[in-house]
Amino acid sequence: MSKQTRRDFLHTGAALWATALIPAITVAEGMPALEETDPLAIALGYKKNAAEVDTAKYPKRAGASGATQFCSNCALYVEQQDGMGLCTAIPGKLVAGAGWCNAWIPTT
Ligand code: SF4
Repeated sequence: MSKQTRRDFLHTGAALWATALIPAITVAEGMPALEETDPLAIALGYKKNAAEVDTAKYPKRAGASGATQFCSNCALYVEQQDGMGLCTAIPGKLVAGAGWCNAWIPTT
């Protein structure tokens, strides 16, 4: 009978972790970017460049605190590649890490 070592445990854990990541990466391959003209993007006030958000219309992103909000630090964002990522609020489209929408929520 073999005794599982700490190394075996860590190796198995790493393999399971890597396997869990594969579906997300595969899903993102070839996925189109969310266009600002997309009805969902319009409804959420999404901009690829967060600096272009109309802060009069979306005061959540106004001021010093609002200026720190980006897709890349939103709790719904999962970085993929080239500054683009998945957003659980917007299925089937990639959003820009430098972007923003009114559904932004902090990560902590
Ligand atoms: S919910 Fe978050 S990640 Fe998704 S588009 Fe809005 S700010 Fe970006």
